[in-house]
Amino acid sequence: LTATDLIEEHRICVCVRKRPVNKKELAAKELDVITIPSKDVVMVHEPKQKVDLTRFLENQTFRFDYAFDDSSTNEMVYRFTARPLVETIFERGMATCFAYGQTGSGKTHTMGGDFSGKNQDCSKGIYALAARDVFLMLKKPNYKKLELQVYATFFEIYSGKASGVFDLLNRKAKLRVLEDGKQQVQVVGLQEREVRCTEDVLKLIEVGNSCRTSGQTSANAHSSRSHAVFQIILRRKGKMHGKFSLIDLAGNERGADTSSADRQTRLEGAEINKSLLALKVRGHASSRRAPTPPTHVFVRVDILIKACSVKWPVCTLNQECIRALGRNQAHTPFRASKLTQVLRDSFIGENSRTCMIATISPGMASCENTLNTLRYANRVKEF
Ligand code: ADP
Ligand code: MG
Repeated sequence: LTATDLIEEHRICVCVRKRPVNKKELAAKELDVITIPSKDVVMVHEPKQKVDLTRFLENQTFRFDYAFDDSSTNEMVYRFTARPLVETIFERGMATCFAYGQTGSGKTHTMGGDFSGKNQDCSKGIYALAARDVFLMLKKPNYKKLELQVYATFFEIYSGKASGVFDLLNRKAKLRVLEDGKQQVQVVGLQEREVRCTEDVLKLIEVGNSCRTSGQTSANAHSSRSHAVFQIILRRKGKMHGKFSLIDLAGNERGADTSSADRQTRLEGAEINKSLLALKVRGHASSRRAPTPPTHVFVRVDILIKACSVKWPVCTLNQECIRALGRNQAHTPFRASKLTQVLRDSFIGENSRTCMIATISPGMASCENTLNTLRYANRVKEF
């Protein structure tokens, strides 16, 4: 099976990536509880204790479209996740790639590149790799004749004290999200920069990333609460031809505090689930050429929300959302969260494709969060 086949078969591709043990975990002599015995299997070996205090490892196995171990490179992960989606935007489609996982598990490393040391290098992140392939694809005769222009945006959706949408290419200018009468969503004032080569894109990623973390005591404290969205947009004679959204999601761990901001971030997690689900429903319906029975859909929504361990008041919004998808896609109520609102056109387009990269930490201390991430990713895949 090639990477392209993978995406063709499932409209949502779900992969898992394990990050290497870091210095802190090493110093603490933390157990590495994750093994990846084959290219699509992840095992968690959770240390447990019986009532008589004998210790044992509880092994849990998960299967995904792909599982990448700690020796994998960004380039390898990219090849099987975002790479097959590059073609989608040339074929007038919408592509979305999410990194999902606990803070510190490698979302930003995977999407944005390495920002940890002094030698910051964003050229190996999925943002940059996707941009590189967009420019390569642009040279193919079939696409060259379309005379497409390439633009990039980079913004952040923050759900902390100062919640809102902020332009990372314009000194964090606060942006307004508006919906016009035709339910077209507009991020007012968002800078869309024309880019002509990969180097142009690298410069923008650097600007955006330093803007994202500036004024923060710790990059992690901030990114655990914010979603970063990097988009590559193709235009033909000014009109949108295709769009690739690459998203470094807020940390999915349940914070110790239960502040409303924290709760908001988790609610957004549920919103993403719903949007992914909506996409999946459409994918299945069209591939089988038969409408999906609605009851079936409702059941799965419940499971997804449970999986995200979010207490959703009642499921009415979800049901509405799915019902609307079946009837008239123009009225799918995605408005409940800024993130899904902004990504709305990517989820409802005729030709939309999504991949999710669930990132996990290897250490024993992260076990609970890791299991949460894997269970959630598993639900998305199972549908
Ligand atoms: P997140 O964005 O999920 O909070 P980061 O991407 O910031 O996590 O990763 C936390 C730390 O681990 C960073 O110092 C990062 O460079 C490092 N790291 C993450 N993934 C990898 C990896 N696959 N290989 C090497 N280092 C990694
Ligand atoms: Mg991060």
